[in-house]
Formats: sequence, structure tokens, C-alpha cells
Amino acid sequence: MTENYDVIIIGTGAGGGTLAHALAASGKRILLLERGDFLPREMDNWDAKPVFVDGKYISKDTWFDRDGKSFQPQVHYFVGGATKLYGAALYRLRPGDFGELKHVDGISPAWPLSYEDFEPWYSRAEQLYQVHGNAGEDPTEGPHSEPYPWPAVSHEPRLQQISDDLAKGGYHPFHAPCGIMLNEERRPESLCIRCAWCDGYPCMVHAKADADIIAVRPLLGQPNVTLLTGAEVTQLETDDSGRTVTGVVVSRDGNREVYRGDIVAVSAGAANSAKILLNSANDKHPNGLANGSDQVGRNYMFHNCKAIAALCTEKNDTVYQKTLGINDFYFATKDYEYPAGNIQMVGKSNAEAMRGEQPEKTWFAPEWTLSDTARHSVDWWLTTEDLPVPENRVTTDKDGNVHLTYSPTNAEEADRLCEELKKILNHTGMAAHHVFRKNFYMDMDIPLAGCAHQAGTCRFGTDPATSVLDTDCKAHELDNLYVVDTSFFPSIGAVNPALTAIANAMRVGEHIRNRMA
Ligand SMILES: Cc1cc2nc3c(=O)[nH]c(=O)nc-3n(C[C@H](O)[C@H](O)[C@H](O)COP(=O)(O)OP(=O)(O)OC[C@H]3O[C@@H](n4cnc5c(N)ncnc54)[C@H](O)[C@@H]3O)c2cc1C
Ligand code: SF4
Repeated sequence: MTENYDVIIIGTGAGGGTLAHALAASGKRILLLERGDFLPREMDNWDAKPVFVDGKYISKDTWFDRDGKSFQPQVHYFVGGATKLYGAALYRLRPGDFGELKHVDGISPAWPLSYEDFEPWYSRAEQLYQVHGNAGEDPTEGPHSEPYPWPAVSHEPRLQQISDDLAKGGYHPFHAPCGIMLNEERRPESLCIRCAWCDGYPCMVHAKADADIIAVRPLLGQPNVTLLTGAEVTQLETDDSGRTVTGVVVSRDGNREVYRGDIVAVSAGAANSAKILLNSANDKHPNGLANGSDQVGRNYMFHNCKAIAALCTEKNDTVYQKTLGINDFYFATKDYEYPAGNIQMVGKSNAEAMRGEQPEKTWFAPEWTLSDTARHSVDWWLTTEDLPVPENRVTTDKDGNVHLTYSPTNAEEADRLCEELKKILNHTGMAAHHVFRKNFYMDMDIPLAGCAHQAGTCRFGTDPATSVLDTDCKAHELDNLYVVDTSFFPSIGAVNPALTAIANAMRVGEHIRNRMA
């Protein structure tokens, strides 16, 4: 048995790491429990084979699909969580995402808070995570009370040309918001070297604004903050009333340990947070902790995404490709009554990465084909919102393992977005320069295991019958339990989720600080 902490935070990713950062200055005693370790700095960080083909930084976890078939989820257990590997595209949700949106397959529900409620926290999150951007270029973007702390990352020539062509065609390309520590004006001082190994790779030079580097490391050595790595939380215990979490059960080095804290914040990622709550069932919470509404684990979302490599005869020498975004189809247009989603760039293709992403299509392809493909590709990432469907859910079995049942939604919208991209490519002249008479697209739908954008298993709301958390992200049914990762999302929008998780963690952090004052 160990000392009592003021706050125990489970998980050190976008949610948990940022929450710790928000609370540390209070002087309260904070314990961070992280099942992973620090990600090693090594040459493999920037090598596509270990990263994409061998999956060196993917957990060895086994999850099961709806039929009980096992698979290896693409989750990352390190200090910093998924942000160690993320592409650092740090988007705000659009104001319209906070309201109800009609989609082809149903309704994306309104959030209990508005864009205006989140705006100050988005601004603070952008300052903390050093986001580079240029507010005002994207017509779907909400107002910013503060400008981005850093100017937008410049386009390399090929991307600038595409952006110019798009603007000439009446589109509204914008500089994508990037969380990288790049100082373009003073390159000798820049931590970021603007390399091709950002999206999906760890940053070997620690220049990516991830939760480890930005939020957790600066706290190490502070007397009131303790980080335990290799500490997998398996269960939460409550008092007899069921209203208070009294013990956090940890498996560490093969031993069972129990930690005590006045406040407990679960931030283990959407699937694992649900797992912890479901595996904590007791007499007062027979269906799992905080699960009287039967909502824990439900409404799992992870975006309807496509990665598309558009090939042409012209070489694409871009190194850092994630600088461009297009939201012209984010909401309904005059030609299509539903939101189709966000178009952005993904990290530059290389032969090994392509092999890792879609082994069944490329594994047997001769090497030169993949290399050629990669050298001539312009690589796009298409995101369509998926809906919070109750049947899309995380459950656990008698051994505590995660079972993930998921059917995609809004496939028609995703296809529509793909069609719009094809028009864009033709418009930007790529077809004319193409090896083939028509553009050739390598279309890589992300399978179930690619749960990078997982969200929504413990949604927040005002009605305990339909939500797990209240608007402060405290469990309706417990007095000292919070969930502060992407689990709280009632809908996911069609932009990348991390900045919203970060902003929310800062928001909840202030609430917890006030509560403890
Ligand atoms: C390859 C990749 C690219 C991405 N690109 C982008 C992007 O460009 N922009 C963007 O916005 N988002 C991106 N994302 C998604 C983004 O990283 C996540 O949305 C975000 O990190 C989620 O934050 P979180 O706090 O919910 O979970 P995480 O950041 O995953 O943190 C969860 C933490 O909990 C720990 N943990 C899990 N279970 C336990 C347990 N039982 N006990 C203790 N600790 C536990 C994990 O080890 C981890 O540290 C990407 C993700 C991936 C994988
Ligand atoms: S682009 Fe910059 S932040 Fe990204 S991996 Fe390279 S050096 Fe790191």
C-alpha cells in the first residue's frame, strides 16, 4: 500500500499527459500511471521497415472482432501515447461540429458545449503544443481569440503549385495546422529539421509537439509529480457506496499494486478506458463502473478514412508534405446535401511504408514498382465523419480482453469525398502529366486494426441516461472519477482529434484545480 495522492492520472497521452501538465503547477501531488515506457531514440525511429512493416512501436495486445477473431490493434503504449507516432495535424473541430449534423446514414449529435465554450481552450492548446498555422484561410474554421503561436509551415514547391492551382479553380486550400517545432526563419536554431519521417513515425530529434515532450517531460523532477512507467491499470475499486474510487489496481513487473488518490482521471485511450471501467464491475456497478446507463464502451468511432496516392509522371520531391488542407466539402454543398469531410496530405510515400500499409496488395510487387510509385506520388488523406452508433462498441470478455464490434457508417459520403478529390487532381493538371491517360489511384482503406483516431466510448452530456460523463468529464455516477481522453467525444467531426482532446484536458484541468483549491 502506498501514500495517498491528490490526483491519479491513468495514461500519459494527449488527454492524460496534458491533464498532468495543467495540474502540476497547483502543487498537488500527482501520480501518473503509464503502462508503457519512454519510446527509445534510435535509428529505427526513422526507418519505414521497422516502423511500418515490422510494427516495432505497435503494442503486442490482442483484441477480438465481433466474430471473436483476434487481431493486433495499432495502439501505442509509450509515455505520450499515440501522440509519439501521430502526424501532429492539430485541427480544431469546426463550430458546426458542435451542433447536430445530418449525415447520409444518420445524425451526428450536438455536443453539450459549444465551439465558443471550447475556443479559449483551443487557443491555449495551440500555444502549448506550438501549433503552426494561418487562421482565416479556411472558410469552415471558427473564430480564433489568439493567432497561432507560429506562422504556417510553408509549402514546398510541388505543394505550392497544387495550392495555387486549387485557388485558381475556386477551391479554398489552406495551410494545415502542424504541431512541429520548426523555425523556418532561423533554421540553425530550429529543433525540427523538416524531414519526411513525421507522420506515423516517432521524432528522433524530439521536435514533434507530442504529449511526452510537451506535457510530461517538463514535469519530471518536480517534487509533486510522480511518473510510474510499466504500470498497467487493470481495475478501479470503490467504497461500499459505489460513489468513490478508493483504489487503482496496477499490474507492474508481474505484481499487483494498489494506489490511492482523492481524484482519479482515466485517460488510457477510448478503447482501454472503456476496458478499465468495464473490468471494474462490482456490486454497486454490476455492468462496469459508471455504466448504469449501459453507455460505457458504446458509440466507438474512429473516422472513415482513405489514404490515396495519386501518381503522375512528374516527380514529387516534397519532403515534409503535411502542409495543405481543403475543407470545401467539409459540410453540405449546393451539389451534395451531406458533409463529405476533410482532405489533407499524409506523410510522403516510400516503398517500405506502402508495403506495410497494404501488404495484401503490394507484398508481392517487385521492389522497383513500389519505389517508382512512391517517388511519383502525391499522397492524400481523406477523412469522413463516422457516426456514434450504439452497436459500435467495446466490450470485454471474462478474461478482461477487448472485443471491438464496428461497422462503418457514411460510406457514401466517403466515396463522394474521393470523387471530389479526383476532380481536384484532374483540375490541378495531374492527369495531363500522368503515366496513364487517366489518373491511377492506390486506394488504401484503413482496416479495423487501424484505430488511430479512436474516440467516443464514454461520451459526455447532461443526461445520465444517455451519457457516461457530465460536462466536466466527471462520471455521473461517481464523485471522484473523471475520463479525460477522446472517450468523451459525443461525435468526432471529420478533422483529427488530438487538439480537441488536448484542449479538453486543459479545460477539465482547470475544473479539477478549482475543485481542489
Ligand atoms: C499513426 C498515428 C497518426 C495520428 N495522427 C494524428 C494527427 O495528425 N492529428 C491528430 O489530431 N491525431 C492524430 N492521431 C490520433 C491521436 O494521436 C489521438 O487522437 C490521441 O493521441 C488520443 O489521445 P488519448 O489521450 O485519447 O489517447 P493516447 O494518446 O493513446 O493515450 C493513452 C495512454 O494510455 C496508456 N494506457 C493505455 N492503457 C493503459 C492502462 N491500462 N494503464 C495505464 N496506461 C494505459 C497508453 O500507453 C497511452 O500512453 C494519430 C494517431 C496515430 C496512431
Ligand atoms: S518533420 Fe520535424 S517534428 Fe517531424 S519527425 Fe521530422 S524533425 Fe521531427
